[in-house]
Amino acid sequence: MGVTQRMSAGAEMEEARASILIVDDQKLNLDILVNLLEECYEISVAKSGEGALRAVENELPDLILLDVVMPGLDGHEVCRRLQSDPRTQQVPIIFITAKSSVESEAQGLELGAVDYIAKPFNPSVVKARVANHVRLKLYQDRLEELNVRDPLTGIANRRRFDSYLDHEWRSAIRSGAPLSLLMMDLDYFKPYNDNYGHPEGDECLKRVAKALVASVDRSIDLVARYGGEEFAAVLPGTSEEGALQVAENMRLAIRNLGIAHGHSPVADCVTLSIGVGTTIVTRQGQQMGMMERVDAALYRAKGEGRDCVVSCVSEAGD
Ligand code: GH3
Ligand code: MG
Ligand code: MG
Repeated sequence: MGVTQRMSAGAEMEEARASILIVDDQKLNLDILVNLLEECYEISVAKSGEGALRAVENELPDLILLDVVMPGLDGHEVCRRLQSDPRTQQVPIIFITAKSSVESEAQGLELGAVDYIAKPFNPSVVKARVANHVRLKLYQDRLEELNVRDPLTGIANRRRFDSYLDHEWRSAIRSGAPLSLLMMDLDYFKPYNDNYGHPEGDECLKRVAKALVASVDRSIDLVARYGGEEFAAVLPGTSEEGALQVAENMRLAIRNLGIAHGHSPVADCVTLSIGVGTTIVTRQGQQMGMMERVDAALYRAKGEGRDCVVSCVSEAGD
């Protein structure tokens, strides 16, 4: 129970226990709930509403057990804030409170809580309700994950790439750090398919995807299948020099797979062309323009003989 699989930016699967944040200003209540749940879940605690908001800044739990009556920010206010923030609104909240009037329960549920448990509570009931809500949350996460995963290769799909780029674009405006993009396309893949057959082509795409993901080592780098035999990568906080290095590593990684291609004018194995771009992001909404410039660099890489890396940073007009 409580074990889930998560997709990191690099798309590899990792196993983790579901995590629960317990918020209560009374130490005794915290101790009881921690004792009850720590066997099955990764538990963190906060002793105030402010502490709860700080805790979710660092890491999103799978479920929050939230006391209603607390000095400072009370549970209802914490719930309101978490529900109004797109980053935190998916985290289910269960109110646990001595305030057991029907009005209070209704108010909690109207604020978006998934459940309401009155104190004094029955331990078995708390455990069972928590287990139900965790199960639902993990199911929801799984559905969302399927929605952003390319079914053939198992890596991130274009939908995930677009939303991740959007997210990292915003962070880059705040941080002022450079952001790099890579667009990649397999060389002469049509003749590969035509000669070796579609199933072999699919097998090749799977191996290429795996090698590309293995070529990035920071968890915030994202490699995605952009479509067909095209891949793309977002490298947040990466300079032009760093991005060129990653691109060259990727190009070599694909060559080193040594997938025989007897119908490519470039080499006797499958090769990859890569366009690279780096920018200091200053404004929202310029992502498409950058994608177009990186795509133009990829097009130039094709023109310059394929199996190479071309950067668009030094292009006139950039
Ligand atoms: P270039 O070097 O200019 O990129 O040439 P190319 O042949 O790679 O480019 P083109 O765009 O003409 O062909 C892409 C081919 O990729 C078409 C199709 O046969 C193959 N392809 C696209 N998606 C898939 C897929 O999901 N599975 C398989 N097996 N092949 C695919
Ligand atoms: Mg193509
Ligand atoms: Mg191609």
